[in-house]
Amino acid sequence: MPSVTFNRNRLKLKKLLGIRARLALLALILVAPLMFERARSLEATRAKQIALAAEEYANTTRQSADTQREVISSVETMLRSAAYIRASSGVGRSCEILRASLPTSLPWILSIMIASKEGTVQCSTQNDIVGMNFGASDYFIKAQETGDFVFSDYQFSVSNNRPTLMAAYPVAAINPDEDSVVVAGINLDWLSKIMANLGGRPGISALLIDRAGVVLAAPPDQADLIGWPFGNVPLLTAIAYKALSSNSEKGSIPFTYADGSRRTVSFARISGTQSRLIVSIDEATVTEAINGEIRTAYLELGLVCLFVLIGALIGAEKLIIEPIKLMTGAARRFGAGDSSARVAGSDLPSEFMPLARAFNAMAAQLSQRERELVATNNRLTVMASIDMLSGLANRRGFQSRLDFEWAKAQQSGSELSLLMIDVDHFKLYNDTYGHPEGDACLTRLGEALAGVANATLGFAGRYGGEEFCLLLPNTGALEALEIGERFRAEIQGIGLPHTASSHETVTVSVGVAATVPNEAQRPGDLTEAADAALYAAKRRGRNTVVEHGFVRRVDDTGVAITG
Ligand code: GH3
Ligand code: MG
Ligand code: MG
Repeated sequence: MPSVTFNRNRLKLKKLLGIRARLALLALILVAPLMFERARSLEATRAKQIALAAEEYANTTRQSADTQREVISSVETMLRSAAYIRASSGVGRSCEILRASLPTSLPWILSIMIASKEGTVQCSTQNDIVGMNFGASDYFIKAQETGDFVFSDYQFSVSNNRPTLMAAYPVAAINPDEDSVVVAGINLDWLSKIMANLGGRPGISALLIDRAGVVLAAPPDQADLIGWPFGNVPLLTAIAYKALSSNSEKGSIPFTYADGSRRTVSFARISGTQSRLIVSIDEATVTEAINGEIRTAYLELGLVCLFVLIGALIGAEKLIIEPIKLMTGAARRFGAGDSSARVAGSDLPSEFMPLARAFNAMAAQLSQRERELVATNNRLTVMASIDMLSGLANRRGFQSRLDFEWAKAQQSGSELSLLMIDVDHFKLYNDTYGHPEGDACLTRLGEALAGVANATLGFAGRYGGEEFCLLLPNTGALEALEIGERFRAEIQGIGLPHTASSHETVTVSVGVAATVPNEAQRPGDLTEAADAALYAAKRRGRNTVVEHGFVRRVDDTGVAITG
């Protein structure tokens, strides 16, 4: 039983995996490695692109930070030279030199001032600042304490109310006897301009924030953030933690924003200051273009697969299924008896040509053989209905002709006559001359009867032994009697010697029957009637012709016709 179930399952599977399905499967198997390779390379490209973008922005962050460090160091240089000038000249002279030497190539330096120990501006490259006091400012106090450069947190310029950073450097660092402090106002607008190369790209946000988290500078598209505290405390904490743990002032961290968007955040501290540059990259936005490309590529792959599938199915249909149907159709027509059914080679792919040729050759051979069989059968049928001795139809041949003529006469309502002929004393003939002579005699009588049949458009046959018959279509009783009489006379006239007979020659007795066939009669009735007439002729002394109707009359009146 298990093997039966197994075979059944295999059969089901075979049915499922028809030629179309197999070709489609084959096509997919061929395409699959290409598909997987393409998908793999697309995914690799995505990862590489993200890594590249992150790397690019980290570099940009560093470069930007470097650029800003240059800004800071140019401020330091300016302050140091201002301190030097102040250390070597009085306040008035120093201011003159400063005003004359503030280079236009450093547009971020708004002004350079010399302040007294208490913080009062004694002179400035911007006149309206003179007299102001920075003495209470953290950076001012710290610069005096540390004797080094100190940058302020973000603040609004007292002169023009614009975002500004202050830098202070004590002249005491150059000459310990001096207690003045040189101060510079730094234009943060200008820093923002430097950062412009970081902004303007989708998914990128770049900010310069100070120690307190206030946005000092931003690219033009985020300029409205300047002066406001950078609200993302968790990000700042994460950056601070990363900076602390890696002991580095710059680096990158992955960070998930409150809105769920994942960003890679690069940060770098501007050395010498408390400010920090933060560049965050929204991976989704950066990879959006790549994702789009990947989607298109997957769509292309899907389309390729679809086309390959459709191609395989159409190919299977055109190249295999249709030729098979064509050949099956021809084989079916041939099987149904259309021996002219052939497969047209021009409609087939070349691979099917040998099969089509073999089929056509087989079909041609089979129809040739069938023609031969029909011919042989016809010959056999003819042979089966011919009597070899007399050359006339045999009993069977006669019988079927009788049926045919009967039906024809019945249809047309015409007369049909039958002559039954029997050789007289033929047993004695055999006994006297031998059987072979008897055969020769029968052959001679057959020839004679054939002649009569030809002349009368009748049909002659050997009914059996030495008994013959002649079927006469469209012939009435009288005419049939005449023909019978003519034949009887002809045989007697031939004069074949028959010493044992009272007539001394071979003679025949003839029984005649005639009718117009109708529904009530059967062909056998005509044969029986002719036979009865023949019997009567024998009784009447042989070498005689008797008609059936007359037989009945004989019964009635006792009169007979003789030859
Ligand atoms: P009747 O006049 O009453 O017809 O007498 P008959 O002797 O002809 O009739 P019967 O039926 O007694 O004998 C027929 C004979 O015909 C017997 C048989 O030997 C002979 N015969 C039948 N067929 C053939 C044949 O094919 N060849 C030969 N040589 N003789 C045949
Ligand atoms: Mg007989
Ligand atoms: Mg006889």
